[in-house]
Amino acid sequence: MDFRKTEFVKSAVKPADFIRDKRPQLAFAGRSNVGKSSVINALIQRKNFARVGAQPGKTSQINYFLVDSAAYLTDLPGYGYAKVSQAERDRWARLMEAYFQEKGLITLGVLIVDARHKPTKDDETMARFFKDTECPVIVVANKLDKLKKSEIEPNLALIRETLALDESIPLMPFSAEKGTGRIELLAEMEKALR
Ligand code: GDP
Repeated sequence: MDFRKTEFVKSAVKPADFIRDKRPQLAFAGRSNVGKSSVINALIQRKNFARVGAQPGKTSQINYFLVDSAAYLTDLPGYGYAKVSQAERDRWARLMEAYFQEKGLITLGVLIVDARHKPTKDDETMARFFKDTECPVIVVANKLDKLKKSEIEPNLALIRETLALDESIPLMPFSAEKGTGRIELLAEMEKALR
């Protein structure tokens, strides 16, 4: 699959808008500001395709991108931003519940966390959501460039432990800024889709 051949398809704000066709769906999730848009842009090798630095938590919508006419890259709304109204939180929760509960929507889950920190409670919840789908899951530890070399291994171990990732779940060090880990993540995604 050539990720450089990616086009925006549509946004969904309610379950009726979800895409339901035979193509696989790669669902990307992450806390607001973790760099989810930047990771997507790094994968498809375009600047500002997925909107970087969009005002966090402003919109509870799912954005669908079609990759190489073969699969959808499904950009789930970010979570965990403090300054979000209760109404917006409720909207987010309803949309995510509908999305995760419907069988057959997710083919592969990609959860993006911050390589610098212990995953948050919200990250733990999202990891649980993905595991409950019983689809393959990949966890991406972004912002690797912000770590000292000596911090990488212990931080990855802490992420694996906190999210209770068993050995079958790949944890991929990544830097959207530097492009580190792009080839490896694409290879893991292809492997999971086989
Ligand atoms: P989103 O809210 O998860 O979509 O996050 P964005 O992609 O908008 O990124 C949030 C901020 O983190 C922006 O200022 C990005 O430039 C920065 N950022 C994203 N990825 C990286 C990375 O790998 N390294 C560093 N140093 N900064 C990053």
